[in-house]
Amino acid sequence: MRIVDAFGPGKPPVISFEFFPPKTPDAEARLFETVAQLAPLRPTFVSVTYGAGGATRRLTRDIVARIKREIGIEAMAHLTCLGHTADELAEILDALTAAGIENVLALRGDPPKGQTTFTPTPGGFAHGAELAGFIRGRWDVCIVGAGYPEKHLEAPDPETDLHHLTEKVANGAQVLITQLFFEPQTYFAFVERARAAGIGVPIVPGIMPITNVSQIERFTSMCGASIPASLRELLAGVRDDDAAVTAVGIEWARDQCRALLAGGAPGLHFYTLNRHHSAQEILGLLRAEGRV
Ligand SMILES: Cc1cc2nc3c(=O)[nH]c(=O)nc-3n(C[C@H](O)[C@H](O)[C@H](O)COP(=O)(O)OP(=O)(O)OC[C@H]3O[C@@H](n4cnc5c(N)ncnc54)[C@H](O)[C@@H]3O)c2cc1C
Repeated sequence: MRIVDAFGPGKPPVISFEFFPPKTPDAEARLFETVAQLAPLRPTFVSVTYGAGGATRRLTRDIVARIKREIGIEAMAHLTCLGHTADELAEILDALTAAGIENVLALRGDPPKGQTTFTPTPGGFAHGAELAGFIRGRWDVCIVGAGYPEKHLEAPDPETDLHHLTEKVANGAQVLITQLFFEPQTYFAFVERARAAGIGVPIVPGIMPITNVSQIERFTSMCGASIPASLRELLAGVRDDDAAVTAVGIEWARDQCRALLAGGAPGLHFYTLNRHHSAQEILGLLRAEGRV
């Protein structure tokens, strides 16, 4: 199933879980347990990230194909331009489609550790939009792109970033998934600006339930998302108690999801960090409330 076909008037919200490729066979077994725990919640699809290099890159394809084949959940492979020529990307896309994968999140990728700017590989691509344009028409997949409600860290201003997002959609991105954020209003303002700029595709909010304070501080500083003062205060009170932090994270994300769905968000994309507990609890609650 192409993910874009899951959206539309009268259709239920599109729910997805994001995982990263595990580094060891034990971790791989744990990941499949996690996916199996989440499967009864009937996500529309799951996605698997693409690493910055090394052996996990091949795993993305294998895991996405396995989830689809063995667990029967639709799946999407992430793919980045980082370190690849166009020919290499073509080989990967051939392999993905040969494995039955019908959805690709086309990304630029982050600069490698220790570097602040992204240097395109000679014969490769500089932006997610270029990768989307490369895929379109050549591989029969639904192209998904990333969007940044608080602007991409490297963009000089939100308008420039949004202009580049319109190029991504013009080049074939049929669905956008956002970077994590914590205030529903951040998403609604972004969608309003995107619509005003002529972007008509579904924009799915990315939700990260917090489980660890140092980790979320690190992630947000890396991706440019802000932690609201009220959430910071809640976390400060429980900082060293992981169970209490997780409980705060679940409550915050639950309220965020309620507000997003009530305001018309077409779905929810959960960054799971390969753990099922928070996403399972939040989605279970939303299902019990009849919201998804
Ligand atoms: C949902 C989601 C999933 C992700 N999954 C992964 C993953 O699996 N693996 C991974 O490594 N990373 C992943 N990332 C992170 C992503 O790779 C980084 O955020 C990266 O820095 C940007 O990728 P992009 O495709 O969104 O960038 P782009 O859309 O290429 O934008 C990057 C920057 O370039 C600017 N820009 C775009 N086009 C132009 C142009 N024509 N001229 C000048 N400037 C331009 C933009 O404004 C922006 O500042 C994910 C992010 C999200 C939101």
